[in-house]
This record gives sequence, structure tokens and C-alpha cells, in this order.
Amino acid sequence: MSYHIFQGDNRDVITRKEHQCWGCAGWRPKGSTMRHCVNVEYGKFNHSYFCEECEDVAQKVGFWDDQRGGCELGAIRENYGEYFKQEESGDEEEDDRG
Ligand SMILES: [Zn+2]
Repeated sequence: MSYHIFQGDNRDVITRKEHQCWGCAGWRPKGSTMRHCVNVEYGKFNHSYFCEECEDVAQKVGFWDDQRGGCELGAIRENYGEYFKQEESGDEEEDDRG
């Protein structure tokens, strides 16, 4: 029995550079374990990455049953924020990437 959160190819990878998690819109540094998903939409490949926490939450709430293989950026965190571990600092973290 294998579990697929996405249609198409998906597997856990150790990232070789930082990637943005599609589920929570947070960035994960290189060397993180993330789920890499590929699906095809309108004849074009879409690549997306999900952090372990998002994958965990998505499984818990049955997120993918509703989404039919796609979601908006940050949708998991937006809809199921209460399932995520609370941030330790109360302040918004500043991120000067780019
Ligand atoms: Zn995430």
C-alpha cells in the first residue's frame, strides 16, 4: 500500500537547495526532507515541494481528498493553521531573501 498525496510522481527527497513549501509558503533550507511532487496540468509539468509538517497535517485532515491534486500556495497553513506547531517567537520574522 503506498500513499500518494498528489497525482503523478511524488517522493521524498533531501533538497539540494532551498525550496519553498507549497503548503505553508515557508522556505526550507537545503538538506531538508521534503516531498517533491510532479503533476501535469495543461500539458505542462508542475513541480512542487512540501515540508514534512505540511505533509503530516495534510494527511491528518484529509486535505488532498478535497483538493483533487492541487492547491493554492500556502493553502494548508491557511486552512489548518491550528494543526501546525506554534512559532516560538511572537514577532513576525523578517526575511530579506532575494
Ligand atoms: Zn510546509
